[in-house]
Amino acid sequence: MHELPITQSLLDLAIKHAEEAGGGKITDLYLVVGKLASVVDESVQFYWDIISEDTTAEGAKLHFRHTPLKIECLDCGAVFEPEEFSYTCNTCSGFRVRVVGGDEFHLEAIDLEQVEVSGAESGS
Ligand SMILES: [Zn+2]
Repeated sequence: MHELPITQSLLDLAIKHAEEAGGGKITDLYLVVGKLASVVDESVQFYWDIISEDTTAEGAKLHFRHTPLKIECLDCGAVFEPEEFSYTCNTCSGFRVRVVGGDEFHLEAIDLEQVEVSGAESGS
């Protein structure tokens, strides 16, 4: 399975964002998972629980948003969500199509626990 490296980079990214936002504990991650990404939610969650341990993202909740497969017809330009395994344009019945959505996997947003910042703000 490829979920482990994916989950690892997710964690790195979330921590980086959290640090850029001034630090704090990460409470929620919002993920976008395309239908073609072949990422299994449960596997990501499984690895997440292991690798997020002892990080600022420990115990953060993962939210998965699944996006449908999207196909663009190269003949008429129609964009549609195909039936399973049928990539024929439903506008002009063309066969020349390309995938324009559904293979994505990315971190959409994270939520941070608001922490009181004590002491003076240090500008750079
Ligand atoms: Zn078409």
